[in-house]
Amino acid sequence: MGNIQTEVKEVKLFIDGEYVESSTNSTFEVKNPATQEVIAHVHEATNEDVDRACRAARRAFEEGPWRKMTVAERCGKIRRMAEIIIERKEELARLEALDVGKPYHVALEREIPRAAHNLSFFADFMEKQGGEVYPMEDEYLNYTRYEPVGVAALITPWNLPLMLTTWKLGPCLATGNTAVIKPAEMTPLTVSLLGEIAKEAGIPDGVVNVVQGFGADSAGEFMTTHPDVDLISFTGETTTGKGIMKNGADSLKRVSFELGGKAANIIFEDANLDKAIPVSIQAAFMNSGQVCLAGSRILVQRSIMDEFVDRFKKAASELKVGDPQDVSTNMGPVVSEEHYNKVTSYLDIANDENSTLVYGGKRPDLPDYLQDGYYLEPTIYIQEDPNARICQEEIFGPVVTLIPFDTEEEALEIANNTEYGLNGVVWTDNLQRAHRISHNVRAGTIWVNCWFVRDLRAPFGGFKKSGIGREGGHHSLEFFTEAKNICIAL
Ligand code: NAD
Repeated sequence: MGNIQTEVKEVKLFIDGEYVESSTNSTFEVKNPATQEVIAHVHEATNEDVDRACRAARRAFEEGPWRKMTVAERCGKIRRMAEIIIERKEELARLEALDVGKPYHVALEREIPRAAHNLSFFADFMEKQGGEVYPMEDEYLNYTRYEPVGVAALITPWNLPLMLTTWKLGPCLATGNTAVIKPAEMTPLTVSLLGEIAKEAGIPDGVVNVVQGFGADSAGEFMTTHPDVDLISFTGETTTGKGIMKNGADSLKRVSFELGGKAANIIFEDANLDKAIPVSIQAAFMNSGQVCLAGSRILVQRSIMDEFVDRFKKAASELKVGDPQDVSTNMGPVVSEEHYNKVTSYLDIANDENSTLVYGGKRPDLPDYLQDGYYLEPTIYIQEDPNARICQEEIFGPVVTLIPFDTEEEALEIANNTEYGLNGVVWTDNLQRAHRISHNVRAGTIWVNCWFVRDLRAPFGGFKKSGIGREGGHHSLEFFTEAKNICIAL
């Protein structure tokens, strides 16, 4: 490796089937988080640009062929998008690694294929859908249709850009809606290509628009207040979700929110540690801990605490932190300077709260060309107080807290002692306990003796402040459709 500088890209908006510049020609910079080199100048959408994108999407919905074409034809085009993503997977993985700082091989082997699968899955799933029929004796017949809602604003975060955007775009398009997409300002590169990929796949102009910019008083806010937008599907921070809900309220927009998390990963004394430790390492440090589903609170039964700490620490020390483009790298930097400052502020907080540092807590030793990158070692604390800030707040970086517990009741109490409820993980060989914990942890997904395993038909979403609504399978289709009942006198 050594020199990962690339040419500086110009990222434009994609509106009504073509790349366009910002109407004021204003751009912002995106940096490679591994080196701080500028990798892109991105056109920032003005209110006028967002208005053009939303009106193009409205026109494509009302007047274009998209929602009227057969499901088979529409889904064929969506599947073609998936194929193009696979055809371009090396390029997309390289861009994702450059933008987010995640290891290239993870993007190549997992996230980009999953992004393609998000599209093909919903195309296939949609083709198998029927409706309901409710006969009223021999006098009337009710039947139900599911029709597209209209224009969807799809707003996504920076941690898994293409994967999370296609997770929304798949059901949005399969059900016949049109979209205005806004990726996060820090990681626009892969998502910026979705408009051209849609066009190449034969999807009509105006169906997939991509605007670029920030949140408040920028593209994000302009979209969520725009009168032509009917639906907002948002993934991001809980506080952002609250603001978006307020902004969308005046025009009564339908919302689906996937928000923050602070999952408990509960390790009981009968757990198979040979499996629990490597998976818990993944759950803590995958994508530098920048995963909403991260198992960032590891609750460990006190009787196995010493053994767990030794083995977990050893496994963390074996992670190779380094250049995202290097195939041997397990963990890259965090996404930006601002985020690095936020994540590392928790090192002081942990210290002030008398947490015990087990491993990490500083910049790793790295070659010269990565000296400016936003790197932090995998960092492990022990904290006895589950109310400590590092046990309560979403750090969203490679910082994990081990919390000891004695009994199952105590583990449950700690697991539920959070405003979040996205997911939970439990490691035990006791079947009854696995079910008890799964039923009583208040979260949308519980993984037993595994983590991050996803069947796209299953509901995905959060309890409490981790979200509103569910994505996945028919849950996504419901969000993106209006149910219509037709009652016929026989
Ligand atoms: P963020 O909320 O800061 O930004 C997300 C997106 O919203 C970005 O595109 C941003 O520009 C936009 N935005 C910000 N303010 C806005 C506003 N006022 N109006 C409209 N749009 C606005 O989140 P982030 O920092 O990019 O991502 C990290 C967060 O996302 C974490 O909290 C993480 O847990 C969460 N997340 C959740 C899931 C899930 O499925 N539940 C998945 C991934 C990430």
